[in-house]
Amino acid sequence: MEARPFHQFVVKAHSRCNLACDYCYVYELADRGWRDRPRSMSPAVVRHTAERVARHVRTHALTEVEVVLHGGEPLLIGPAALESLVRVFRAAVPARVRFSVQTNGTLLDRPMLELLRALGVRVGVSVDGSPESHDRHRVRPDGTGSWDAVRTALHLLADEFRPVYGGLLCVVDVRDDPVRTYESLREFTPPVVDFLLPHGNWSAPPPGRVPGAPEAPYGEWLVELFEHWYVAPETRVRLFEELLNVVLGGRSGLEGVGLTPSAQIVVETDGSLSVSDILASSSPRAARTGLHVLRDDFDRAAVLPAVLAERAGLAGLSATCRKCPVVAVCGGGLRAHRFDGSGFDRPSVYCPDLFRLTTHMRERVAADLAALA
Ligand code: SF4
Repeated sequence: MEARPFHQFVVKAHSRCNLACDYCYVYELADRGWRDRPRSMSPAVVRHTAERVARHVRTHALTEVEVVLHGGEPLLIGPAALESLVRVFRAAVPARVRFSVQTNGTLLDRPMLELLRALGVRVGVSVDGSPESHDRHRVRPDGTGSWDAVRTALHLLADEFRPVYGGLLCVVDVRDDPVRTYESLREFTPPVVDFLLPHGNWSAPPPGRVPGAPEAPYGEWLVELFEHWYVAPETRVRLFEELLNVVLGGRSGLEGVGLTPSAQIVVETDGSLSVSDILASSSPRAARTGLHVLRDDFDRAAVLPAVLAERAGLAGLSATCRKCPVVAVCGGGLRAHRFDGSGFDRPSVYCPDLFRLTTHMRERVAADLAALA
C-alpha cells in the first residue's frame, strides 16, 4: 500500500468539554487518553505542529490543507489562544490553510464570532434537530440542556456571520421523526447538514442496534429522510450527496462513504499523533501511533500500518464486504464501526442499515435514469 500525504489535520485545541453529551465518542466510549493529556495545546506544541505541517506541505508540494480545530470543546482555549494558533499556522505554512472549528455552540457569542470571522475560520455546530432531542443528549454537567444557548448562536451564524457558517452536525436518534429532525435543522438555514450515526461497534453496540440482527432501524430512518430530501433537496445533506456521487460513478469526499481513503491525522493537545478520534472511541490502542510533533514528521505517520489500514480501500475490508453487491457505495462504513473487540475484519456493525440505505438509493436513482432514457 502506497503512503499518501495528509490533507486534513485535526488539531485538538482543548481536550475537555463544557457539555456531557451521552453519546460523546471522546468521553463516553473506550478512549480514556484525554485524562492524561493537558487541557489545552501549549504554544510550543502549536508552533511545532505548524512547522510539521509546513514541512509536509513542502515535501508533497501541497497547495492547500485543512486544519480542523477540535476537542473536547475547542473554543474553551479562549480567544487569545485561538487567534495565536491561527496566526502561527498561517505564518508557517506555505500553502492555503482552510480553518474550521467543530463546536458545541455554547461559547459562540458575538465577540467569538467576530474573531472567527476576522480569522476566516468556518464554524460547524453540533446540534440534534428538535429542541427536545437536543436537550435529551446534549446536556451540561448539571443535566440541563444546551438548546437555548445553541439556538441563540445559530441565529447569529445564520444572519450576521453567514460567511463563516460551515454547517450543522446531527447525530441520528432513531426515536425521533427523521423529517421533523431535518426540518428543525433547516430553521437555521445551514449551508449543509451532516447526519452522523452514533459511534459503536460489535463489542459496544450503538443504541437500538443488536449486532448481527437483520433489522435496520438506522437504515429505515435514513431512507425516510432520503425520500423527503430527494424530491426537494433544498438544503445540502452531505451523506446523501456523497452517496449519490458514488452511485453515479464518482468519488466520495466523506470518510465512511465509498472506498475513499482517509486523508486525516489527529494532533492531540500534548502533541502526540493519533490515527483518528473515531477509531480511538473503539480501540484506543489501534489509534495510537507513538509519534509526536516534537520528534516526528507526518511522513512517519503516513507509513504506519494503522494509518495504511485506514486508507486501504477494498483490500482493507472483510471478505463479507468484498463480496457485497453494494461495497463500492457503502465501503464497509467507518472502520471504527467494524471493531469486534479484537480486530476490524468484519462488516460494519451497521451493515443491515448501510445495505438498506445504499440499495434503496441505488434503485431510486436507477429508476429515475431509466425513466429519462
Ligand atoms: S453493506 Fe455490509 S457487507 Fe456490504 S459493504 Fe456495507 S458493511 Fe460491508
